Amino acid sequence: MTPQPAIATTPFDAAAVRADFPILTQEPAPGEPSLVFLDSAASSQKPAAVIEALDDYYRAANANIHRGVYRLSELSTGRYEQARHLVADFVGAASPRECVFVRNTTEAINLVAHAWGRKHIAAGDLIVLTVMDHHSNLVPWQLLAEEKGAELAHVTVTPDGRLDLDHLDALLRREPKLVAFPHVSNSLGTLNDAAEITRRAKAAGATVLIDGAQSVPHLPADVQALGCDFLAFSGHKMLGPMGSGVLWGKKAVLDALPPFMGGGSMIRTVELTRSTWADVPARFEAGTPAVADAIGLGAAIEYLSALGMDAVRAHERDLLAYALPRLAEIPGMTLLGPSDPVHQSGVVSFTLGDIHPHDVAAILDAEGVAVRAGHHCTQPLLRHLGLVATTRASFYVYNTEADVDRLVSALHAANRVFGLT
Ligand code: PLP
Repeated sequence: MTPQPAIATTPFDAAAVRADFPILTQEPAPGEPSLVFLDSAASSQKPAAVIEALDDYYRAANANIHRGVYRLSELSTGRYEQARHLVADFVGAASPRECVFVRNTTEAINLVAHAWGRKHIAAGDLIVLTVMDHHSNLVPWQLLAEEKGAELAHVTVTPDGRLDLDHLDALLRREPKLVAFPHVSNSLGTLNDAAEITRRAKAAGATVLIDGAQSVPHLPADVQALGCDFLAFSGHKMLGPMGSGVLWGKKAVLDALPPFMGGGSMIRTVELTRSTWADVPARFEAGTPAVADAIGLGAAIEYLSALGMDAVRAHERDLLAYALPRLAEIPGMTLLGPSDPVHQSGVVSFTLGDIHPHDVAAILDAEGVAVRAGHHCTQPLLRHLGLVATTRASFYVYNTEADVDRLVSALHAANRVFGLT
């Protein structure tokens, strides 16, 4: 393994953070190990503050929003729009109107593929994606390309799991209409230089969408510094409720788009055979939204902001720096991706000898360690790396070095079960 760069230890009290998460502080059943949760890349746990925000909303403020003239509806509307302000501040949006509440990253990308894609993509146009994309940033564009007769091309990935920027440059010379890529790979943890990729793509005249599902929860993400047109992310991966997500879009870009879905709330006027549209973001929020979940996301953002996103990133980097050499010493261990805390988020993917990743995950589960095994919704990436599945451990604010120690000792146990040590 390449030597790790020296990393300053950051003051971050993960044990105190952990105490805020009821699911992590539950007493295990007699004879059962306590839970070490290392699957936050799939969905994070929720702090009491978020659970209480949901509870309080339903107890004290529940009513449909925007249309009510009574006080309870105004209270509910106020909390929903306050959550939008929190989201806007969190990602550096120029205005809360640039933030559309959706259910998740997948819906955000589909919204762009439908509303922006149908308007701007024509037969023969090029859309540039990457080999490391999650299925939710592949399939919507495949559907669009099929409908329009557009072409898809994918920036390739180096053996150590980084985007090949020379290949990006070669594709940009073909003047794509859109470049869409993940800020952080959910499979390998690769931290892409999103601002630089965006700068190059914009210089080539492309519209840029960043899949922020694995970055917005874990590091400071500022849309002004990134320079993109769209940023998609999921609330449930950043301490917020399931069913909360955000599409941020530049106001001028959103303003020029037709709706994604039709129905109530997204209209200005409706006649029997035609309608006119509300301004953004309402134009993209058809029907009754997930009001409580948006408010819960607002509470998650307040929680993360109080920790400080620089501190969150530094904590995960420190954990990774602690974990990588210890994991590398385990017999049979193959670490995938950059294996470098500077270029990697708190996601570690690996294989262990020829033990199937599902078997590894099952043995870890018996030891109380929850990790994910499979293709992580990145089948093309794994195929590119000559793999079918990996085991993936992912860290977040509540993980500690003791969790890493439990992971390492559970992996030794897996080796013993399979007679490898
Ligand atoms: N993009 C990336 C990089 C992801 O990791 C994920 C989820 O794992 C998604 C998109 C899809 O997120 P969601 O399932 O919340 O729509």
